[in-house]
Amino acid sequence: MEITPDSDIRYIKGVGEKRAALYGRLGVFTVGDLLEHYPRDYIDLTAPKSISDAEEGELCAIRASVDAKTSEQRIRRGLSVYKVRVADDRADMLLTFFNMKYAVESLEIGKEYIFYGLFSKRFTGGEMTAPEIFPAEENGYLPRYPLTEGLSGKMISANVKAALEACGEQIPDELPEAVLKQYFLCSKTEAVRSIHFPESASALARAKRRLIFEEFFEFSLGLALTRGKNRAATGIPVRPCDLRPFFGALGFELTDAQKRVIAECTADLAKPVPMNRLVQGDVGSGKTAVAAACMYAAVQSGLQCAMMAPTEVLAAQHAETLEKLFAPLGIGVALLTGSMKEKQKEAARDAIASGLAQIAVGTHALIQEGVSFRELGLVVTDEQHRFGVRQRLALMEKARSPHALVMSATPIPRTLAFVMYGDLDVSVLDEMPKNRLPVKTYLIEPDLLPRAMSFIRKFADHGLQSYIVCPLIEQNEENLSLTAAADLAERLTGQELAGCSVGLLHGKMKPGEKERVMRAFAENRLQVLVSTTVVEVGVDVPNAVVMLIEDADRFGLSQLHQLRGRVGRGTEQSYCILVSGTRNAETQERLKLLCSTSDGFRIAEQDLRMRGPGDFFGFRQHGLPTLKMADMARDMKLLELAKQAAAELLEKDPDLKLPEHALLSDRTERLMRTAAVS
Ligand code: ADP
Ligand code: MG
Repeated sequence: MEITPDSDIRYIKGVGEKRAALYGRLGVFTVGDLLEHYPRDYIDLTAPKSISDAEEGELCAIRASVDAKTSEQRIRRGLSVYKVRVADDRADMLLTFFNMKYAVESLEIGKEYIFYGLFSKRFTGGEMTAPEIFPAEENGYLPRYPLTEGLSGKMISANVKAALEACGEQIPDELPEAVLKQYFLCSKTEAVRSIHFPESASALARAKRRLIFEEFFEFSLGLALTRGKNRAATGIPVRPCDLRPFFGALGFELTDAQKRVIAECTADLAKPVPMNRLVQGDVGSGKTAVAAACMYAAVQSGLQCAMMAPTEVLAAQHAETLEKLFAPLGIGVALLTGSMKEKQKEAARDAIASGLAQIAVGTHALIQEGVSFRELGLVVTDEQHRFGVRQRLALMEKARSPHALVMSATPIPRTLAFVMYGDLDVSVLDEMPKNRLPVKTYLIEPDLLPRAMSFIRKFADHGLQSYIVCPLIEQNEENLSLTAAADLAERLTGQELAGCSVGLLHGKMKPGEKERVMRAFAENRLQVLVSTTVVEVGVDVPNAVVMLIEDADRFGLSQLHQLRGRVGRGTEQSYCILVSGTRNAETQERLKLLCSTSDGFRIAEQDLRMRGPGDFFGFRQHGLPTLKMADMARDMKLLELAKQAAAELLEKDPDLKLPEHALLSDRTERLMRTAAVS
């Protein structure tokens, strides 16, 4: 019988029922699954080091011979320690083993081995704890597989070898020949063989590049195809109209970026296919004006618009801004939020249903039952990352196929935006309105806090306000070293800021209470607001000029940038003070980046590089497929290439229906099915 990647794994020599069951636990059922059960990483035994060449903290292989062994030392029941001294011709190294009686006993005095582990320097040489032991003549890259109990790396290697032989060393290649050529990729067979049994560092690199590209390619195809399906719906075109009355009402000159993005949006709106656009712009780049321009255009075509904000304060603020802007233009704005009195809500619902209000602004209340629009044509969501995709879709269901404009203040690197919002087109507001004073940012150590507080106090005396953000609400046992908002607010009121009005805001407060405190701050009845990160989201208090962040090393860069965006919104010079006692050089570097740049995109790129995409604002929710080899952050360049290659292929075969793309189409579909939808 011919064995193919689709064959059951039990057809492989050496894999019986029992082992097949173990493989099942790893999600490996077919020969193809086994061939794609890639090593997690490798032990590099190609160039073992000498003890004196190894570096502090390095994971490395060292060749040395055994000098002496201590006998077993029982620390307590079930815990024995063995010490082994090894040496090369220049230095020696002390090895510590726990409970590895057999391994230690099999080491022969005077014989050479390779020890692989984490090296630390000691006066006379070095030290390793529980290193792996290999014969001195071992060479090459040893794969390390994701394992399960009962299945060792050796067994997997042997089975993979047998699988390759059984397939006649020929694995069907889903990538078209032309793509392989154009992007300098090796064949599937070569890639699979080298990923399991790399013969050199360059062979391994070639294999990885090919396999990562392949995943991104299928992923890009999957996104593009999904998006194509969404595009089939028909929307209500917005007639191009004269925007000059709107521009006149604005009261400021738009930036070139705003003009460009508005043009991109109105071009989308004019099409019979619903717009699906993400507008990304740093805090303060003027996204509201872009949204307002789109709403103005939609209203001119007799359509209604909805604008959703993630908090009540923000919704109220938007409603106020839009009301001021649109009232003179004869356009009605209604606000609908959860905490409004039933009577007010009723009035708002009526205005929306009758079409008297052309623009509805609100929170989740807008998507709840009981709100119906006369003719909803455009849905704007602000601060997208606070809304689940599902909520956006719920509002979309209120109309046939309204145009959708999503605004995000979290600058996301372009590649990541493509991944997170694969179904959206992206516009970028990469320019700030003129005459903005950049926020001055400083990194200080905790012992300078008293001075920072007197700084805040001085501003308070001049009628200007400050935020103080802490990582915790209340002190708890595990985090004694972190500053807690509640404790700090109490202390400041009694001591450093005695006489100032200090408010406290945190996520565990009831919504009504939060609103009350936020409003008091917005109306300058509170001079200092001590808060957890709940202030992160776009409230506009132009009178606030200081943002002090305690234990700043606790936060991600993007989050710090977002917090900083709360100040610098008025005409006064604003300050951001990052307080951190960290001794970690890398963390300090990270924080210093904030002091030297206000470019949100640069900060986000850096954040992505350091923390990975998993952390990026609940990234997982967005329904990403599981990628085995590729890493969105590390492999961004390859993602760009694969995306381009996918677009080129879809030009020729838009639905992936050509027979030569059958395998590719199949794999793409399978990959997209692994995406967790939430
Ligand atoms: P964000 O992009 O953070 O939502 P906003 O839309 O709230 O920013 O705009 C921030 C502030 O800048 C608002 O007070 C707005 O009126 C003002 N603004 C927006 N565009 C311009 C511009 N082109 N020139 C001057 N001020 C502007
Ligand atoms: Mg905004």
